[in-house]
Amino acid sequence: MKIIMLGAPGAGKGTQAKMLAAKYDIPHISTGDIFRANIKNGTELGAKAKEYMDKGLLVPDELVVDLIMDRFQADDCKNGYILDGFPRTIPQAEALDKALAAVGESIDYAINVEVPDENIVNRMSGRRACVGCGATYHIKYSPTKVEGKCDTCGADLIIRDDDKPETVLNRLNVYHEQTQPLIDFYSAKGVMKEVDGTVDMNDVFDAIVAILGE
Ligand code: ADP
Ligand code: ADP
Ligand code: ZN
Repeated sequence: MKIIMLGAPGAGKGTQAKMLAAKYDIPHISTGDIFRANIKNGTELGAKAKEYMDKGLLVPDELVVDLIMDRFQADDCKNGYILDGFPRTIPQAEALDKALAAVGESIDYAINVEVPDENIVNRMSGRRACVGCGATYHIKYSPTKVEGKCDTCGADLIIRDDDKPETVLNRLNVYHEQTQPLIDFYSAKGVMKEVDGTVDMNDVFDAIVAILGE
């Protein structure tokens, strides 16, 4: 099963993608996580990506597309995957389409997690990320047992550089201009499904499972 998660920054794509990956036993591929790992490891790609990420802008398509095409070659992708944060532009979606068509494949579902802009800043200001394992929490909606420490690995939690309110507003604009058109793109292919992302995260999950099947 090949699934794309769509939605505004902070809509809950990553949260749902992690739960779905565990349920269906397919990898969760997050381009944001891949870039953050590259930044942490001091790679050339990381340095390039950071310039854009810190401003709330998208990393140029050619950097993202090569990276993701490489990732699909890995053995764990043979039964499908959940894409979180890719594609984010029409050219990225077209590149993905072309690569899949070349091997006789296509995307099964694009899931749009719908959350209005008014809720997004609140979501993002409370988001906390684990520096150790990458787990995501929210100070109000998904708090850790011990404040500031990851439940899974015990490492410290941080606020992402790009989750500052002024950067979040830029990211929302970028989302509306460059990523939202993908909803029409995947609707035209007949694979677009929408879920309400404002309800409890377990209810969002149940709604997605109802679409994908047990
Ligand atoms: P969010 O939590 O907003 O969905 P991500 O972790 O997916 O954020 O992405 C963080 C940043 O990484 C983006 O704002 C963008 O700069 C960069 N990025 C991630 N995926 C892509 C992509 N497919 N195309 C371009 N830039 C990307
Ligand atoms: P995205 O990957 O779309 O940027 P995340 O999955 O990182 O979004 O979620 C953004 C923040 O909102 C995180 O702090 C997360 O814990 C929280 N969150 C996710 N889903 C929900 C939900 N349904 N209700 C409330 N908070 C949520
Ligand atoms: Zn952790």
